[in-house]
Parts: sequence; structure tokens; C-alpha cells
Amino acid sequence: MSEEKKSLNFIEQIIEEDLKNGLPQEKLRFRFPPEPNGYLHIGHAASICLNFGLGKKYNAPVNLRFDDTNPAAEEQEYVDAIKKDIAWLGFQWDKELYASDYFDKLYEWAIKMIKEGKAYVDEQSQDEINKQKGTPTEPGIESPYRNRPAQESLDLLERMRKGEFDEGAMVLRAKIDMASPNMHMRDPIMYRILHKAHHRTGDQWKIYPMYDWTHGQSDYLEQVSHSLCTLEFKPHRPLYEWFLEQVYEGGLKPKQREFARRNLSYTVMSKRKLLQLVEEGVVNGWDDPRMPTISGLRRRGYTPESIVKFSELAGISKRENVTDVALLEYAVREHLNKIAPRRMAVLNPVKLIIDNYPEGKTEYLKAENNPEDENAGYREIPFAKELYIERDDFKEQANRKFFRLTLGKEVRLKNAYIIKGESVVKDNDGNITEIHVTYDPKSKSGSGTEESKRKVKGTLHWVTVEHSIPAEIRIYDRLFSDEAPDGHKDKDFKEFLNPDSLKIDKKARLEPSLKDAKPGERFQFTRLGYFVADNEHTSENPVFNRTVTLRDTWSKKKK
Ligand code: ATP
Ligand code: MG
Repeated sequence: MSEEKKSLNFIEQIIEEDLKNGLPQEKLRFRFPPEPNGYLHIGHAASICLNFGLGKKYNAPVNLRFDDTNPAAEEQEYVDAIKKDIAWLGFQWDKELYASDYFDKLYEWAIKMIKEGKAYVDEQSQDEINKQKGTPTEPGIESPYRNRPAQESLDLLERMRKGEFDEGAMVLRAKIDMASPNMHMRDPIMYRILHKAHHRTGDQWKIYPMYDWTHGQSDYLEQVSHSLCTLEFKPHRPLYEWFLEQVYEGGLKPKQREFARRNLSYTVMSKRKLLQLVEEGVVNGWDDPRMPTISGLRRRGYTPESIVKFSELAGISKRENVTDVALLEYAVREHLNKIAPRRMAVLNPVKLIIDNYPEGKTEYLKAENNPEDENAGYREIPFAKELYIERDDFKEQANRKFFRLTLGKEVRLKNAYIIKGESVVKDNDGNITEIHVTYDPKSKSGSGTEESKRKVKGTLHWVTVEHSIPAEIRIYDRLFSDEAPDGHKDKDFKEFLNPDSLKIDKKARLEPSLKDAKPGERFQFTRLGYFVADNEHTSENPVFNRTVTLRDTWSKKKK
């Protein structure tokens, strides 16, 4: 997409409208508000790219605000991982803020609301409160505590805060309208008792504010101009605005606006479900390369650029939809094609012996690092009499459509010579153990001879027996074999796990230059796909993960 052609998304249109109606551009301010109860996933990337993208576009600050109001689920580990992932994606936040920093202010406002008759302590159980909620077509029932004197509520709230009561004994509720057609306006809970230590405030608080009572007020304190959240919060918007009116002390009033969540095919995205996969050992941690988390994608070999590009291509929409994971794979292929150095690796090797090549000789052949990048230069790769090629690249007998090696036919060895299949050696079980070929010494790639320009049908990758290094290759595939694993009413999402989502191959042989790869370094293995050196990779024990195949193999399978 070229810059000029890009039309404004609907959030940008809202902002443009606000600017036209007199909002000064320097008042624009955004935030990304994660709850530190898990790792960020590709859905969060949509929100990150939206908010930080707007920050860039309008030269406006974007805060990173941790929405840390539920100590039962939140941890410092998640805070650290979230910061790492956002920075890795290439975005810089203005301030690092925490909703927990506003606990005092929120408490002060709650007291003010009680005094003004806008909030009360309800001593009923959660069950009773739920029973009185009513339905969207029937009004709810008012709590017997609703009209208690403010002084009683003030006293109880103070004692709730100090920890005098058990969890669940009582809550603070806003006094709005038990007959409102909007269920969120039926005296929503502002505080609940939780005897849990908080990762930042420790044991200071025994009550914690609810999301609705925290989020908008945090936006207001930070003077966020546009508070962008996902569609499920749309019905909360009247409550967001009502709370704001109660606490308003001048300045800008933030606007909540909603966009559709990013859903991706062949995966689940909710942190609760991802946590379940981690805790039950279905995957090896939050950064397992099959996870849709940012850290998983990083370990899988995705580049930050490809994730940002994907977010751009998928766009921001007003309605729920599912983005095809093939688009994400397309984005990483496109980027890696431009930047990943080419290397040769043989995953399922069979020996190939060139009968007429001199014994003991090693030649060093010039090989292009990346034909897509003229600055990538060349490397030298050793060539010798005994090689490995992929077992699948040879057939004793083959039809005319088989463009790889067979007896009596010619193929080219990449960057090297043209060879012709001569004979095979088999073990007692009939498995091929050696393929014998002859080569044309004049056909060396790039040598300029007539023979070097001769066209043959196939080109195979290879490594030498002597110089190649053994490696472990982890072949990752989609974690689920169903397009919408959590879209089945009567079945658990884990019933749709793909049993072949990880295959470990320990027979692989790599060209020797890969010995120097560093964890996180990405390559294209010729004809096989894109691979990245895993976190566990060392030069003694090379480990590579497959990021993605060279072409989309899934859409073919579906046909
Ligand atoms: P989950 O449902 O996966 O647990 P969440 O909404 O609880 O996610 P938060 O940490 O609260 O996660 O989200 C931080 C921000 O990212 C919020 O503004 C939220 O709306 C946004 N966000 C979360 N998931 C998605 C998604 N799938 N697509 C777009 N934005 C998302
Ligand atoms: Mg949330």
C-alpha cells in the first residue's frame, strides 16, 4: 500500500473530526493499557500498532499504562515481558504508568461520591446481588442497603480497606439506576475486598477497584484524549462517561471509542486459554514458537517489521471478524525473503557419491548470500566427492514430472556442477544407502563455459559429508488443526490441537558456516523455508526452528 493511497481508518476519521471541531492537536494523547496477567499476543499487537501508530502520525505521546487492579492474576514477570515485547516491536512509550498509582486518588473520589449520595456499601453476597440484577427487559431490584446513610457507608468502606472484613462480605456500589436498560448502569460494583498482596502496593490495600471504576479515571488523570478499546466495552461507554462526570475537576474529558478485536484463524487468543496451555504443559512456555504470543512469534523467527506489517494489512475494523493466519505468514515470508541470508541444509540426508570426482579434493565454491539483496555479498562453501542430499530428492524410477534426481537423468547441484544418476547401493532391507553419480567438470556454476549455462530441469541443495555439521531442527506447524478451535459450543478448544505441531529432526546436516549463527539469527534454508537459530542454539549443539515454509502449503491442503 502506498502512502497516498492509504485512506483513513475510522478511528483516524474520528480524530480528524475532533481536530476540526476545535480539539488542539497538542492535546492528543493515547495509551496502551495491558493487564499484567499474561504475555502479549498478536491481538495486542493490533492495539499497540493502532495506538503507537496514532502517536507517530499526530506526534502525540502514548503512555504504557498497566491496568493492575487484580492482584490475584498479576505478576512482575508479566510487566517485564510486556515492556520487552513492545520495545522489540519498535515502539517507545512516553510514560510508564500504573493504575495502582491512582489507588489513593480513586479512594478519595469514592468517598466524595458516597458523601454526595452516589455510592453505597452493599452487605449482600455476590449471589444476591446477581439475582437482583434483572434482565435487559426487566428492571432490577434495589438493594436494601441502597439508601443507607452516607456515614455508614463511609465507616464500612474505611474498615473494608483496613481488612476488617472477609472477602465477599460487602462491596462498594455506584448508585445509578436499577431500571436502566443498560445492565452496566444497574449500580455497578466499584470496590471488592481482596486479601491479596499486590505486585506494587504490597499489603497496603485490602480492597481493589473494579475495571470500570479504574480505567476511565486513569484516562482522565493522564488526560488521554482518545481511549481506544475493543468492542466488548461499547456497552460500558455510558458508565465510563457517568463516572467521569462524578469525578470531573476540569481539563479534557477522554473519549472512549471501540474497534473490533483481532482474531486469528487456527489459534486461540484469550490470555486465559493461553495460560491454560502453558500451565498444562501443552506448550513449552509462553514463548513456545507455536504460541500466538509476541514472544512465541519472536522465538519462531518472526521479525518485528513483519508483525507491524501484518497489523497494517489486516487493518482496524468496526465489526468482529477473523483474520486468516496465512496473512501473517505472508507478511513474514515477504520480509524474510528480503533480509534472510540463504544457506544450505539437508534435513533428511542420503549419501551421494560422485564417482568421477577426485578423492580427497575440496573445492571452495562461491555462493550468493541473498539474490534479493545486492549488498549481501557471497560466501564460500566446500564441495567434495561425498555429499548429502535430501532423500526425497531422489527416485530410482520416476515419471517425467519428477524434476529431481533419478537414474540416467541430469540435475544441477546448487552453486556447483551438473550431475547424472548412475546407480544405487541398498541395505538388506532395500533402503538406499548411497546414490552414485557422475559429474560434468566443465559445468561449474558461474564459470562462464557453455556447459555451465546448460539448462537442466532441477536444482538440488546439498552439503558435504566431511564439512557439514549435525543439527537439531524443530519443524513447527500450526498449534490447532481447526480454523476456529474455540468456536465449538460443545467441545473444548484443546480437542482441536494439531498432533503434528512439532516434529523434531535430529538427522539434519548444515553447511559449516551455520556454526557461527547466533540465537535469533534468521536464514532461508534453500528450498526448505525460513529458519531461526533457537534460544537454546550453541555452536556445539545447533538448534534451528522453522519459521515458515517458502510457500503456503496449508491453502493447498484445504483444496
Ligand atoms: P485477553 O482477552 O486476550 O485476555 P485482554 O483484553 O484481557 O485480552 P488486556 O491486557 O486487557 O487484555 O488488553 C490490553 C489492550 O489490548 C486493551 O486495550 C485491549 O482492548 C487490547 N486487546 C486485547 N486483545 C486484543 C485483540 N485480540 N485485538 C485487539 N486488541 C486487543
Ligand atoms: Mg482485559
